Amino acid sequence: PLPVEQAEKIVLNLEALYDHPDPELEHVAKLARSIQQRRGDYNGRILSIRADDLYTLAVVYSTTPSGLIEKLEDFGVLVHDLQAFFASDGE
Ligand code: C2E
Ligand code: C2E
Ligand code: C2E
Repeated sequence: PLPVEQAEKIVLNLEALYDHPDPELEHVAKLARSIQQRRGDYNGRILSIRADDLYTLAVVYSTTPSGLIEKLEDFGVLVHDLQAFFASDGE
C-alpha cells in the first residue's frame, strides 16, 4: 500500500503521454491504452489510474511508486489540478 502522502489520485494527461517522443514512456502509454480499452473510456483527455496499477508499473521500471511518480512528473504527463487543466482548455 502507498503511504498517505501519495494517496492523491494519479491522473495522466493522455495527449502529453501519447505525443511524448521518449521511448521510456512506452510501457506507461501501453498501460493507459489497455485501461482505456477495458473501461471503454476512449474520449477522455485524461485518465485516472489505480494505485495498484501504478505499483505494478513501478516494478517494470525497477523503481518505487513514488520514484515512478517523480519520473512521470519530470516527463510532464501528470495532471494535478483538474480544474486548472480544464480551465486552460488543454493549452
Ligand atoms: P471490475 O474491476 O470488476 O470493475 C467493474 C466496474 O466497477 C468498472 O467498470 C467501474 O465502473 C467500476 N469500478 C471499479 N473500480 C473502480 C474505481 O476505483 N473507481 C471507479 N470510478 N469505478 C470503479 P469498467 O470501468 O467498465 O471496467 C471494467 C473492467 O475493466 C474492470 O472490472 C476491470 O477488470 C478492468 N479495468 C478497468 N479499469 C482498470 C484499471 O485501471 N486497472 C485494472 N487493473 N483493471 C481495470
Ligand atoms: P474527479 O475524479 O476529480 O474527475 C474530474 C473530471 O476529470 C471528471 O469529470 C472527468 O471529466 C475527468 N476524469 C477523471 N478521471 C477520468 C478518467 O479516468 N477518464 C476520463 N475520460 N475522464 C476522467 P466528471 O466525469 O464530470 O466527474 C466529476 C466527479 O464526479 C469526479 O471527480 C468524481 O469525483 C465523480 N465521479 C464521476 N464518475 C464517477 C465514478 O464512476 N465513480 C466515482 N467514484 N466517482 C465518480
Ligand atoms: P475513485 O473512483 O475516486 O476511487 C478512489 C479509490 O476508491 C480507488 O482508488 C479504490 O481504492 C476505491 N474504489 C472505488 N471504487 C471501487 C470499487 O469498485 N472496488 C474497489 N475494490 N475499490 C474501489 P484506486 O484503485 O487507486 O483508483 C484511483 C482512480 O482510478 C479511481 O478513483 C478512478 O477514477 C480510477 N479507476 C480505477 N479503477 C477504475 C475502473 O475499473 N474503472 C474506472 N472507470 N475508473 C477506475
